[in-house]
Amino acid sequence: MTKPKPPKPILLVVDDDPDVLNAIARDLRTKYGRDHRVLRAESGQTALELLGELKEKGMPVALLLSDQRMPGMDGVTFLSLAAAEFPKAKRVLITAYADTEVAIAAINQSQVHYYLVKPWDPPEDKLFPVLNVMLEQWGESYRPGYGGLRVVGDRWSARCHTLLDFLERNRVAYEFLDIEASEEARELGDSVDPSDLPLVILRDGERLLNPDPRDLAGHIGKLETKAKEDFYDLVIVGAGPGGLSSAVYSGSEGLRTVLVERAAPGGQAGTTSFIENYFGFPAGLTGADLASYGAEQARKFGVEILTPQEAVGLRIDGPYKHLTLADGSELSSHVLMLSVGVSWTLLEAENADRFVGSGLYYGAAMTQAEQAKDQTVFMVGAGNSAGQAAMHFKSCASKVVMLVRGDSLSARMSDYLVRRIESTENIEVRLNTEIVECQGLTRLEGLGLRSKGKEAVESVRAEYLFAFLGAAPHTQWLDGLVACDERGFILTGRDLDPKVHLLDWPLEREPFMLETNVPGVFACGDARHDSVKRVASAVGEGSVSVSFMHQILAER
Ligand SMILES: Cc1cc2nc3c(=O)[nH]c(=O)nc-3n(C[C@H](O)[C@H](O)[C@H](O)COP(=O)(O)OP(=O)(O)OC[C@H]3O[C@@H](n4cnc5c(N)ncnc54)[C@H](O)[C@@H]3O)c2cc1C
Repeated sequence: MTKPKPPKPILLVVDDDPDVLNAIARDLRTKYGRDHRVLRAESGQTALELLGELKEKGMPVALLLSDQRMPGMDGVTFLSLAAAEFPKAKRVLITAYADTEVAIAAINQSQVHYYLVKPWDPPEDKLFPVLNVMLEQWGESYRPGYGGLRVVGDRWSARCHTLLDFLERNRVAYEFLDIEASEEARELGDSVDPSDLPLVILRDGERLLNPDPRDLAGHIGKLETKAKEDFYDLVIVGAGPGGLSSAVYSGSEGLRTVLVERAAPGGQAGTTSFIENYFGFPAGLTGADLASYGAEQARKFGVEILTPQEAVGLRIDGPYKHLTLADGSELSSHVLMLSVGVSWTLLEAENADRFVGSGLYYGAAMTQAEQAKDQTVFMVGAGNSAGQAAMHFKSCASKVVMLVRGDSLSARMSDYLVRRIESTENIEVRLNTEIVECQGLTRLEGLGLRSKGKEAVESVRAEYLFAFLGAAPHTQWLDGLVACDERGFILTGRDLDPKVHLLDWPLEREPFMLETNVPGVFACGDARHDSVKRVASAVGEGSVSVSFMHQILAER
């Protein structure tokens, strides 16, 4: 028997002006009607009654869109009362220009996620881009009880971790069924050889055995892995903050742009639990939100984002750059941006490699945060990223233990984080401590720790270890074509030594700032030699480089 389809998520619009109400509902139906149900209410009170009924029936409500000025109950009041019924629904206030202060205050008190100023015509520019992001964010937290995409597997298997991480970071809603813990999972996976897990069951019932992320992307339909054209003005490799910002500026300035990303838009920033120091967001924002805003903004300007898709080779033919992708296809362009970022240095402890994805995770691995609930979580590393992750895990884990080789936290961590960590009760910092061994059979079960100057190894029980140990750039695939420093970071502009790196430079002009030793090939962000490893600097470099690209395109 086929299972019933899940109900369509509901978008509820509230406005006392029937003409405006009809107009918004019509716009929403046209754009989202295929996958959503659009409901209307002419007052806050009626809308609350309707929400009560929907809650009773167990219907999913994704979005509440309310006018501010309404008789009886204003929009902010309605949205905050509605939040109690459907806390995960995205809440958007529609205001007149005069009410923007009210809207900003409501956002700060967090009853409202976003506000839109009337009029929003054309909706393609002013309404839909915002709602797309809101619905995507809601979709990420929505777990359809049945009928949605389901993953059956062992939560301690590295393959399962890779797949869930991919779905999570690309904001694809799924339900995970742990074969060790759920009867339903065991029934579904009954006929499957354990070596073929994880099993993915698509909405239409199709079953995929241990699919790789690119295969799965093809089946989900939400992600693009093939470019529409063969030739572009600009090809960008890497959709971290640097690549996304380059894409937003080049797209908005009319360059035909395609962005290639092997994991998920957002890069390292997308895995960050919380970014507090990004300009313009006094309350901070999650890395996932920053990533989805950036990707949505780039798409709005016509940029194609291919993910998961990997650049594996580069060929230069006069002024043309030809990029080889992992599926064997080629993308060509006038200009190329390398915003490939860095990845984590591996933990040097006995058996560490055996537990990657099954207890040992590099970076924050947000997928695991929910699983690590009420457990003791270990962190190794003493930079800002380790500090932020500790602050993130402190609210879900029962205890966070930071293992630090040096004798102080403040050598590499910002002062504000050190102070927060020190004043948090359930974070313990163990200085002068080194991990010498990871222990366990099929998954991480313990750590062997040694204190500085001591011989003895102490064994502690540990199921979760998150490592933040510095980084190496993703530049090996460039195969020496682009000049790099001894650690593989890309040299640009003034960092290029004319007597060493520019002997074959063919142009009269010097390389532009952020341009490599190959004319028209740029680099930005963490992968650049001597870069400041911050979101804002990657974003700044990504955007600045676009003005040089225009000059190169004009040189032709
Ligand atoms: C846990 C953590 C917390 C952090 N917190 C903060 C913070 O609070 N504030 C702050 O300012 N900074 C923070 N940072 C640093 C910040 O995230 C980075 O400086 C920033 O993401 C760098 O951006 P980027 O675009 O250069 O590279 P990345 O973000 O590393 O993105 C590079 C992208 O390129 C892709 N890629 C690489 N090679 C290829 C290839 N061959 N083909 C296709 N795609 C490829 C990768 O998959 C990746 O998505 C944090 C970093 C981490 C890890």
